[in-house]
Amino acid sequence: MGYSDKVRATYQAQIKDMQDKGLLKQERFIHSTQGAEIEVEFPTGAAPKKVINMCANNYLGLSSHPEIVKAAHEGLDTRGYGMSSVRFICGTQDIHRELEQKVTKFLGTEDTILFPSCMDANAGVFEAILTDQDVMISDRLVHASLIDGMRLCSAMQDTFKHGNMEHLESKLQLHADKRFKVVVTDGVFSMDGDTAPLDKMAELCEKYDAMLLVDESHSSGFIGKTGRGTHEKCGVVGKIDIITTTFGKALGGASGGCVSGRKELVDMCRQKARPYLFSNTIAPVVVSGVLKVLDILSKSTDRRDKLEKNTEFWRKGLSEAGFVLKEGDTPIVPVMLFNAKLAQDFSKDLFTEGIYAIGFFFPVVPQSQARIRTQVSAGHEMHHLEKALAAFIKVGKKYEILGKTKQQIIDKYGM
Ligand SMILES: *Cc1c(COP(=O)(O)O)cnc(C)c1O
Repeated sequence: MGYSDKVRATYQAQIKDMQDKGLLKQERFIHSTQGAEIEVEFPTGAAPKKVINMCANNYLGLSSHPEIVKAAHEGLDTRGYGMSSVRFICGTQDIHRELEQKVTKFLGTEDTILFPSCMDANAGVFEAILTDQDVMISDRLVHASLIDGMRLCSAMQDTFKHGNMEHLESKLQLHADKRFKVVVTDGVFSMDGDTAPLDKMAELCEKYDAMLLVDESHSSGFIGKTGRGTHEKCGVVGKIDIITTTFGKALGGASGGCVSGRKELVDMCRQKARPYLFSNTIAPVVVSGVLKVLDILSKSTDRRDKLEKNTEFWRKGLSEAGFVLKEGDTPIVPVMLFNAKLAQDFSKDLFTEGIYAIGFFFPVVPQSQARIRTQVSAGHEMHHLEKALAAFIKVGKKYEILGKTKQQIIDKYGM
């Protein structure tokens, strides 16, 4: 009864408005496992079509890897399906402890605490360690989950311009009077694929007595010589006070996340972080899978090495074809289209060509920054990438954007 026609009409109008602006997100239904090739039902009701996936966070191609699946089965058989408890009541198994220890070793930190997701890790960590006498100074492009985590914390919030170390330094000086300062950044930025200068940030944090928190969700497992993450790439392993990361991307892709870093900070999270205290423990099947992932990655760098080669090929190919890309050297390669509708149309045409890569637009990226975010995987073989590249070029020609500048594309299609 309370859901009146007026209330209903309000939401219907909002959804229609999104649709009219080309901003409505539509889910595609995948009928296969996750991988380089997937079977996708699109549009809804159509027979599933086999396409090459260019937009998964499956960086290391482990999401459906037989060894991981086998390990998960073993976890299921020996530790059961679910724990029906949060960690501190009766939800901690020996394998949860083992995973925390293995992650600590992998990341080169002091201690680790698991969370149901990295979203939850970020939602819980700030409030658990900071008070209203402290300040959090974050890069302006940090992930939404960090923004939400900071919102849940009573410490003061400030920002610095993306990747701008002079601006960060001025903010560190500005907040010299606070009890604690925490600098907050993504290691690799999810939408642009660029990397935070963690060496410089660690130096500034040392100089101004600040802690450094880095979200490594798009780095853990493949950035750096042995895939430890951005801190390895920047030569500051052991100097990051707090790392948050996910198991839902390169590290198997199921779910789960963690806070890893200084022992006391992890201890505080275990006592106070609300998503840890009030949300269910990670399922044993997932824990077993992630344990196997870390085993594989600790033994060999083959997968991240292949990913690096694939990425080089992909970036170079798109760039030489004349697309506007975001600069960087990570497997996140955004093809800039600027206009939301163009991004949607481009994506549909790619699908016709057998390539799956979806358009990103506001509010996931800033207004007039619409793009196709492509992501390379170690699961891709060269023939996948060659076929995908040919499709991008074909569709790029159709829309006459190859070799065009940002301004020329905007003049043609609008922002
Ligand atoms: C994906 C992502 C998260 C969320 O991870 P989940 O484990 O899926 O909740 C957090 N931070 C960043 C930077 C991410 O890209």
